[in-house]
Amino acid sequence: MSQNPPSLRPDLAPAARFSDAPRAGQPTIGMVSLGCPKALVDSERILTRLRAEGYGISPDYSGADAVIVNTCGFLDSAKAESLEAIGEALAENGRVIVTGCLGAEPEYITGAHPKVLAVTGPHQYEQVLDAVHAAVPPDPDPFIDLLPASGVKLTPRHYSYLKISEGCNHTCKFCIIPDMRGKLTSRPAKAVLREAEKLVESGVRELLVISQDTSAYGTDWKDRDEKFPILSLARDMGGLGAWVRMHYVYPYPHVRELIPLMADGLVLPYLDIPFQHAHPDTLKRMARPAAAARTLDEIAAWRDICPDITLRSTFIVGYPGETEAEFQTLLDWMDEAQLDRVGCFQYENVAGARSNALPDHVPDEVKQERWDRFMEKAQAISEAKLAAKVGQRIDVIIDDIDEDGIATCRTKADAPEIDGNLFIDEGTDGLSVGEIVTVEVDEAGEYDLWGRRV
Ligand code: SF4
Repeated sequence: MSQNPPSLRPDLAPAARFSDAPRAGQPTIGMVSLGCPKALVDSERILTRLRAEGYGISPDYSGADAVIVNTCGFLDSAKAESLEAIGEALAENGRVIVTGCLGAEPEYITGAHPKVLAVTGPHQYEQVLDAVHAAVPPDPDPFIDLLPASGVKLTPRHYSYLKISEGCNHTCKFCIIPDMRGKLTSRPAKAVLREAEKLVESGVRELLVISQDTSAYGTDWKDRDEKFPILSLARDMGGLGAWVRMHYVYPYPHVRELIPLMADGLVLPYLDIPFQHAHPDTLKRMARPAAAARTLDEIAAWRDICPDITLRSTFIVGYPGETEAEFQTLLDWMDEAQLDRVGCFQYENVAGARSNALPDHVPDEVKQERWDRFMEKAQAISEAKLAAKVGQRIDVIIDDIDEDGIATCRTKADAPEIDGNLFIDEGTDGLSVGEIVTVEVDEAGEYDLWGRRV
């Protein structure tokens, strides 16, 4: 990584600001970005390219010559939300280009909204740009339309999602992502590292590594030097000096080799690893790896190597055929696993998913009741784990400081938007957003902490 002189160090120098006010006559595009962080990365890439080509970016419908709606199609409820957003953009602006996951089903969109200008699928950057060029021709001014060094970012500038691969080679029965996004395709390590370096140089203090299957990164390369390229990528990213947080890590055995990087402080001691269930029969019906007992051994091994590790996971309750005994196994497993952060979904049919055809779907009221019991347990575990932090000194990154001086921060154990926060209620004068400071924890709640500066 190139080293800036101290006065230009991104963490010390005032943050650069790029006005998005369009110049007179500048073609201007609006963007509505729905869905997951992966979709947000796509939106950022599209905006970066448009900015580079001389387009202005409008924060509202009325100022835009056309609007791109980046859709999500993961669940039927997300599809409905996407259709609604397209309808709103058509009503407010009238010139709408649709892209993203739902774009993989163009008839579904044009059936509901025949007036959209174009529909492109996920990651069809060139096609989205072609559609924009056709709808609103570019008119660049080479003297003023300079691309910000880090691209146009929709996330706060001190953290950034970084997508390392696309697609997935698994065939989990409840999931249609492989149909929508295709097989695993990893970005070249050099390109990922260059993007990471640029982000850090422009002031990003935390890189959130995302993909559909992060631990499989690089295993799609035929002539690779290393069996699991995620290991050297994680090590190289860890050398950039920012927090590096790993998301969507599929539970392969080689995940254990990532943990020493966390113990050494190169990568945050945080693993977002979706287990989905714990009963071997349920996992088998999901077409997921079914060795729940071995998973407990793995968790114990990770904690041996890195005692501070925070484990986040997601689960599905009410999966077709889930018996009360299977669900109880999941609750018992939770007692043993003592995960720090847990998300839980009630099973929902998704058009095209193979799980729809499984027998013995669980009634809605049973799903709800199991979800309540699961969350009660998860909450109790989270509360106990947070209570144990009272009195500890920990580093936090500041996400926001409001007008009353209350700072909303995150510890290394908290990913943005999905985990809890640590709040500093006083003594925040002189602090700024993006800064990393040490606090002593003096109070804990169910999901959040409170602390004071040391
Ligand atoms: S590993 Fe994840 S993305 Fe791949 S099929 Fe399973 S749930 Fe879907």
